[in-house]
Amino acid sequence: MAPTLIGSARQIVCSHCEHPLTVDADSIPTDSMPAPNSTLACLHCGKRFMPSDFENASALPADVVTVTTIDPRQLSRGELVAVTWEDQQHVKRLVGLPGDTVSLDPASDDRPRILINGQRVEDLLAPTQSPRVDVSSDLMRWHSLALPSSWLRSTSNHWSSKNALDIRESEWIVYRHQDPHNAGRDGPVLDDYPMNTSVRRKLSPVDRLWLDASFRSDFALNVQVAFWTPEGHRLHESHLPASSSGFTTLTACVWDAAASENQPVSANLPIAIRIAGDTETSDTETSEVTIEGLSVSRSVEYRLNRHHDRSRYPFTLSENECFVLGDNVPISVDSRTVGPIHLRSIQGTCHPLALTE
Ligand SMILES: [Zn+2]
Repeated sequence: MAPTLIGSARQIVCSHCEHPLTVDADSIPTDSMPAPNSTLACLHCGKRFMPSDFENASALPADVVTVTTIDPRQLSRGELVAVTWEDQQHVKRLVGLPGDTVSLDPASDDRPRILINGQRVEDLLAPTQSPRVDVSSDLMRWHSLALPSSWLRSTSNHWSSKNALDIRESEWIVYRHQDPHNAGRDGPVLDDYPMNTSVRRKLSPVDRLWLDASFRSDFALNVQVAFWTPEGHRLHESHLPASSSGFTTLTACVWDAAASENQPVSANLPIAIRIAGDTETSDTETSEVTIEGLSVSRSVEYRLNRHHDRSRYPFTLSENECFVLGDNVPISVDSRTVGPIHLRSIQGTCHPLALTE
């Protein structure tokens, strides 16, 4: 599901980079009230939005969830729960269970990462319960590392090989991240949020990424995806069947990748992809491989913000307590602010309700 629940919203397409963006209806600038929303900008290219950008925006309904009551002692880590404090209901993610120790990563900066029993929250939830945030689906951010390249980047939406035999010992295609907050210069992926474009805050680099792509090929492919992390390079390998009549999709994430040094990735080039050398022999020299829909997303990474009190950490949750966090890390009010939650404050688990138009 989306990383945050939102009320009524508007969807627009950036007139500069054509990236789709969902904006909370309350954040949209108006002619009579341009401030304080003058910082509302495209997450992808940094273009500042004006009231006129929203004239043709389509309206989206508010998210709706259903709540299933459950004995709080049967809850699992990572579930979305309905929880009450100060007479208000909230939807939060359950990350700390009774008996867990909550601490802060001593190696992190002034927005320290939150650890549960010594592990990063996002690593504890991964990969099945990790919420994802879109980073980029811009084909122009992908570059072949070889010159001349045996890959051809289409001006529309895909990469293809000129000759499948060429790519059996193939070159890497790397994702080069461009920071919209720094005039599009190369930079690491930051923990920016589509819904928070008007929130002034410190951004931090993220290193738990996902790649989605679709492949069409006359022959079976071994696909390698390399990821950069501060702890070292990681390599995801998968075998895709021949699919000349349609596309086969691939989802790769850093947690399903094994440690592997000397990959062509770095903080600013965090993902690379190639067809591995042991791909099965193609029958003809004219066989084509096409890669479509290259899309980068990131995990939600859980940190304290600068205004949070860090003096209470570390602490251990009692047998009646849990620790809940919101996926909208910059602005969520959760256990970072109100402390541990008593289990009796949890009404049940939340499930997003699919809405039809
Ligand atoms: Zn844009």
